Formats: sequence, C-alpha cells, structure tokens
Amino acid sequence: MHSLLRAALRAPPSPSDKAGTFYMYEIRPRQPNQPVRRAQAKLGRAKDPLKRKVQWFRKCRGQRQRWWCYWRVPFAAKFERLIHLHFKLRGAWLGRQPCDFCPTKHQEKYDLEACGGRAGVRAAVELYLGLLRWRILRVDM
Ligand SMILES: [Zn+2]
Repeated sequence: MHSLLRAALRAPPSPSDKAGTFYMYEIRPRQPNQPVRRAQAKLGRAKDPLKRKVQWFRKCRGQRQRWWCYWRVPFAAKFERLIHLHFKLRGAWLGRQPCDFCPTKHQEKYDLEACGGRAGVRAAVELYLGLLRWRILRVDM
C-alpha cells in the first residue's frame, strides 16, 4: 500500500468531521457528439445523499446520472479523502474541469474504467471500510 494511503488511514479525523455518507453515481455518455464521451464516476460525501441527488439533478441538467449507492460512515471527510487519494494514485482522477452542464468546476469526477468500473469502486470502498474496522452499511439507490 502507498505510504500516503497508510498515512491517510492512520490520520485521526479532524474535530469538525462528522458521520455522513459516501455516495457514488455514474455520468453516462449520451451520444457520440456529446461532451461526455466516457463514463465517469462521481464520488463524494453528503449528510443526506437523497437531497444531494436532487441537488445534482437540478444543477447538472442534461447529464445522464445513474445513482448507485451510498455507505454510511462515522467520519465522512476522512473517508472521502482516503477514497479520492486511492483513485488519484491510480490515475483515475479527471482533474478540476469546468462542467459541460453547470457553472461548477467539479473536482470529484473519475474515469469509471480507470476505477475498475462500478465493481472496482465498490471493492475499494469496502476494502477501506474493512481496514478502518467500520461496518459496511451500504444502501442501494
Ligand atoms: Zn455540473
């Protein structure tokens, strides 16, 4: 395991870190001439993932979003940092790019294929939950 990941695993959660959820959804290409050509994974945290889902649908109109699931975690910021680091080290991060559908510069988009697909994301999330000895509380959406 990469030393940065080991350090992130061991790091104590910040005092402001709270219980929440870690969610994932897929942004799918529409047609060959559309801006999104390859499937992307959006990985993030939210206190209320159902509210977040509605927010993103409204904000990023025109995207084809397919929400998969979320996990309940005791420290959402720590967990998000860890998973983002994992996929950045794998070269899956798409960077801070302007969105084709809204004014936001999203920072949490990953190339789905480079993540190992949906199964790859799920395996990584549940591996780290296990390493942290946190219960796997997954809710499919
Ligand atoms: Zn957007």
